[in-house]
Amino acid sequence: MRQLHWFQNDLRLADNPALESAQCADSLLCIYLLPKPRAWCNLNGIGPQRDRFLRESLGELKAALQGMGQDLMVLEGSPELVLPNVVERYAIDRMTTSYAPGWYEAQAITFLEEKLPLSLEVFRGDTLFDAAQFPFELEQLPDTFSPFRRKVEELPITAPHAAPESLPPPPAAQFDAIPRGAASPHPGLPLPGGSAAGLRRLEQFLFHTHGVADYKQTRNDLDGLGGSSTLSPWLANGALSARTVAHSIFRYEREHIANESTYWLYFELLWREFFHWRAVIDGRSLFRHGGRPGRRLLTTFEPRRFARWCAGDTDFPLVNALMRQLVATGWMSNRGRQITASCLINELELDWRYGAAFFEQQLIDYDVASNYGNWQYIAGVGSDPRRGRHFNLEKQAAQYDPGGVFTTKWGGFRPTQPEHVVDGADWPITGHL
Ligand SMILES: Cc1cc2nc3c(=O)[nH]c(=O)nc-3n(C[C@H](O)[C@H](O)[C@H](O)COP(=O)(O)OP(=O)(O)OC[C@H]3O[C@@H](n4cnc5c(N)ncnc54)[C@H](O)[C@@H]3O)c2cc1C
Repeated sequence: MRQLHWFQNDLRLADNPALESAQCADSLLCIYLLPKPRAWCNLNGIGPQRDRFLRESLGELKAALQGMGQDLMVLEGSPELVLPNVVERYAIDRMTTSYAPGWYEAQAITFLEEKLPLSLEVFRGDTLFDAAQFPFELEQLPDTFSPFRRKVEELPITAPHAAPESLPPPPAAQFDAIPRGAASPHPGLPLPGGSAAGLRRLEQFLFHTHGVADYKQTRNDLDGLGGSSTLSPWLANGALSARTVAHSIFRYEREHIANESTYWLYFELLWREFFHWRAVIDGRSLFRHGGRPGRRLLTTFEPRRFARWCAGDTDFPLVNALMRQLVATGWMSNRGRQITASCLINELELDWRYGAAFFEQQLIDYDVASNYGNWQYIAGVGSDPRRGRHFNLEKQAAQYDPGGVFTTKWGGFRPTQPEHVVDGADWPITGHL
């Protein structure tokens, strides 16, 4: 049997059920498809830091596969266009991939299932639980987080599996080197891509610095590595599995201390879990302005306001600093994301989907379910029982950056600008006047 494994958000060898299933194949072709810029969207392509992190992750995966006599073929383009050609060219008769939440991702699988003359198996390795474990039908998934958490938090989580000791050889093919991206890691948050770096960060946060033991008090820090776990980039592209992180927390609790903070890190993984399963159910409504309930929101699109928000040049210094941190490093704390999202939705009165698309472009931990789910939550069209959050920006700055150190560090204090530009260039002045 000639098998193809299409890597998506499962860029790891360990705890990868789809890859484990390849062991009895005669040959195995490992492929990753780099996204092409979307022609219909203004926010083309992916930002430099997200691109860097992805390429580093792929480079590390390729090297690990090469160490086992395997390799990784990295091509560019959509799965609908590229994979049928690959299947034909290498006479593939079985294809595997790991489930990736999202509407386009689901559409691609449906298309490939219909189009390809082979068995396509989609494995779930990105979540803590299997749907079969839930004490409810998936269609009955709770709308909001708390009832979901209460129903699932005591369920057993399968221990992560070790990487396979060997893999079938690749077919004769050309495996090119992965070109490096233009960006290098930002000194303010030098997070390298790849499973080894993800595991190092996990060890560091739990067993070296014991950051997990007071995580509940520090998790709202605005800078990375200092307060929260900063594990999201590796979780998002699958360099680390969620089960690996959960079992490391449980080991820490057995070997050191189990307290409110250690529980809280697990609690946050349950948020990720919730948004992942909601994305399965919500389908395309995850991208609708009015969300699942089809609520009507009053927004007007003001390009200048959006441009100022993206550039970190608004009249809100903390928002500016956070947006500049995002563009420079590819990461922002959860508190920062809530503040900047609330600003775009409530102060600038813009369509939340523009903000979500900008995050999608920039975040090194971009994850369709968590990103769009959280944006909908703050906009009041998702899973928030309180129908949206409006953060008081002055209060947030006073509480989370009282001395303005973070805001100064990231250049957030900007000269104020008039709301509308009223110079001659903006007026339709004609020769009649
Ligand atoms: C508007 C907005 C957009 C977001 N977009 C993304 C995104 O694209 N990708 C992403 O991974 N997270 C997203 N989040 C969730 C959260 O902000 C990040 O997961 C978190 O800041 C990552 O930092 P950390 O790893 O230090 O988190 P920690 O606080 O250490 O949490 C541990 C892990 O739990 C998960 N987690 C924590 N909070 C959430 C949450 N609110 N929702 C879902 N999972 C969570 C993450 O996997 C995280 O790595 C978004 C939040 C908001 C408000």
